[in-house]
Amino acid sequence: MTDQPFEGVIVQTGGGVYHVMRGSDIPPVEASLRGRLKLQAREGDRVVIGDRARVEPVAGGWTIEEVLPRRNVILRRDPHAPRPKAITANVDRVIVVAAASHPPLDVHRIDRFLVIAAAAGVPASIVINKCDLSGASPRLTEVEGLYRPLGYTVLGTSAESGVGLDELRGILSEGVSVLLGASGTGKTSLLNALDPALDLRIGELSRKLSRGRHTTVNARLIGLTGGGQVADTPGFEHAGPWGISSANLDTCFPEMEKLSSECRFRGCSHTHEPGCAIRMAGDAGTIAETRLESYRRIREELQETRGG
Ligand code: GDP
Ligand code: ZN
Repeated sequence: MTDQPFEGVIVQTGGGVYHVMRGSDIPPVEASLRGRLKLQAREGDRVVIGDRARVEPVAGGWTIEEVLPRRNVILRRDPHAPRPKAITANVDRVIVVAAASHPPLDVHRIDRFLVIAAAAGVPASIVINKCDLSGASPRLTEVEGLYRPLGYTVLGTSAESGVGLDELRGILSEGVSVLLGASGTGKTSLLNALDPALDLRIGELSRKLSRGRHTTVNARLIGLTGGGQVADTPGFEHAGPWGISSANLDTCFPEMEKLSSECRFRGCSHTHEPGCAIRMAGDAGTIAETRLESYRRIREELQETRGG
């Protein structure tokens, strides 16, 4: 009975060992990958936390026979790799985390993470953390003014003072969430503040956690006591979108998506063509200059790399 094949969610990866949930009340099984999957895994996007897998018993353990089709997968471009890196599969939302200051607020970086989420077809919200710091309030107001009209939820938080944590807990309380943001913005601190039992290490530069029997943990899904799961993955510096073409990039910008059909030319790049509805909206101030600038930067990058 206990050694029957089953389908479960991968909740931890690292060192070639995959932890797969078999039920909510029993510990996950540790499985290895079937040979052919191992090859694909090396390409970076085949088996990640959040994936559903078919697992079968083998002599002395378990093996992952198959990764089931994904509902979605969060991908990013690694400038040094020919293939995208997968962060997490089958997620319900992305939370883009920025700090009001320290590190300085960078709306272009927020836009890049929003595009990563949109390219995966995953809804995103924005958290501005470190709202306890002086000067935070105008920053938060600025971000609210930019993104709320576009339909994004914007929440100010502080892992220090506790502001906004109840709302954040509520947002995370169902399904699987992924926090995306530059390092130092307080993602780890926020999770610890939400759930002190987690006791995650703050300000960690290398995420090669050595635990217990010398297990290397690369990524894991953390269950929060208030409900919901959050992906705990290695940080990354380069937030390059993947899985979207430069021609479709405007579908990742809610304020451009509808308007671009009004451009005079089909396939308008919104950079130089006459009769461009997007640029006219920019001139009229109905599309923010920073958003147009983010669009142009990401578009250029996608054309250089043909990512996706
Ligand atoms: P991560 O890299 O995004 O996981 O960021 P960390 O959680 O490691 O936090 C980076 C630094 O910011 C640490 O020194 C934290 O103590 C600090 N920090 C995190 N959240 C807050 C906050 O809300 N307010 C203030 N003032 N500092 C914070
Ligand atoms: Zn245009």
